[in-house]
Amino acid sequence: MNILILGGGGREHSLAWAAMQNPKCDRLIVAPGNAGIAAIAECAALDILDGGAVVDFAQANSIDFVIVGPEAPLAAGVADDLRDAGLLVFGPSKAAAELEASKRFTKEICDACGAPTAAWARFTEAEPAKAYIREQGAPIVVKADGLAAGKGVIVAMTEAEALDAIDEMFGGAFGAAGTEVVIEEFMDGEEASYFVLCDGENVLPVGTAQDHKRVGDGDTGPNTGGMGAYSPAPVLSDAVAQRALDKIVKPTVAEMAKRGTPYQGVLYVGLMIKDGAPRLVEYNVRFGDPECQVLMLRLGAQALDLMHACAEGRLAEAQANWADDHALTVVMAANGYPGSYEKGTPIKGLDGLPEDSFNMVFHAGTAEKDGQIVATGGRVLNVTARGATLAEARDRAYAMVDGIDWPDGFCRRDIGWRALD
Ligand code: ATP
Repeated sequence: MNILILGGGGREHSLAWAAMQNPKCDRLIVAPGNAGIAAIAECAALDILDGGAVVDFAQANSIDFVIVGPEAPLAAGVADDLRDAGLLVFGPSKAAAELEASKRFTKEICDACGAPTAAWARFTEAEPAKAYIREQGAPIVVKADGLAAGKGVIVAMTEAEALDAIDEMFGGAFGAAGTEVVIEEFMDGEEASYFVLCDGENVLPVGTAQDHKRVGDGDTGPNTGGMGAYSPAPVLSDAVAQRALDKIVKPTVAEMAKRGTPYQGVLYVGLMIKDGAPRLVEYNVRFGDPECQVLMLRLGAQALDLMHACAEGRLAEAQANWADDHALTVVMAANGYPGSYEKGTPIKGLDGLPEDSFNMVFHAGTAEKDGQIVATGGRVLNVTARGATLAEARDRAYAMVDGIDWPDGFCRRDIGWRALD
């Protein structure tokens, strides 16, 4: 099978790694890829938001299967363009990708299918929004409706903070994403992510994870794209996961099918869990980054078979085989991230690290320059390991971190603390 993966971060490196473990993969191209991916697959410069260009490229290279990594091409309808051209794709249509692109859409789906989530209201003008906040009181959550790279959500602990957020959003701080605002009830509990493949009709869970959003040890400091993750998430026990599947995921998938926009791809189900009861925080229409890295290390070669079965609508007969294992990833970021940071700093020591089904360094933002790996982004490396216990996975990951010589980078030293305590 000739495979094309769209994307070029740590998530796509782990997807590429898993695909390469599978003997069914004959040729693998990743667009645009990165320096780590280039070591295991072909990389191609391609505008992955341009559906026509992606279709032409796939046809010219006899691609049998396209896996879409990030949300932007999905929201742009690239999966639709590929399907219209007769190509097999893993990833939802533009219409189904609304589950991530619009918070209001997701809330309407939850209401229509009875999925438990925070009570909510939507506003297109500041004054009624403020009146609602005064009526509800704090804590309360204010969200720009559209995609704002995780920055359009204000969890306001005071009424004043919530009112300021309204001024900011209607003042244009988030551009078009903030012309409509969703205000939600604050949900208390522990957050975890559940990943479920959906083929439009059938669902197949492919793992649970928890991540660390804050930049500093002890979950302190500003929010980031994620500083580390681990799988499984203890709070998502089998019973809680089954409840989430029955009360949230399956009703959503049925509702999407009923509306004529069936969901096909991976559904990233962000949950808030309190006293064993899961409620939906958000959906994303792709694997999380860095959660994908721990899921792929755990799934290995079968990940390709499962995604392929999903794209072909064969999930009813598919099955994930789980080892009783744990995986953990530590994100190494450039000094200064999530604020300003330097690009182009050299990273040494990677060659000496183990690379096997227990230890992998997935590259997120790297390039090769004059025979040397250099950092090209904020989040740069995902040092990922697997073990019989989470402690073993953590020790392996940090042993690799300690072998990396990158004075211009840093990482958290406490990834997994909640589960390890
Ligand atoms: P991201 O994709 O980066 O997680 P997003 O912009 O899609 O962010 P949400 O996931 O909806 O936004 O919210 C971001 C975070 O805010 C959540 O992970 C959660 O910690 C918090 N949050 C969101 N909604 C609520 C809520 N109703 N109650 C409590 N916390 C919430």
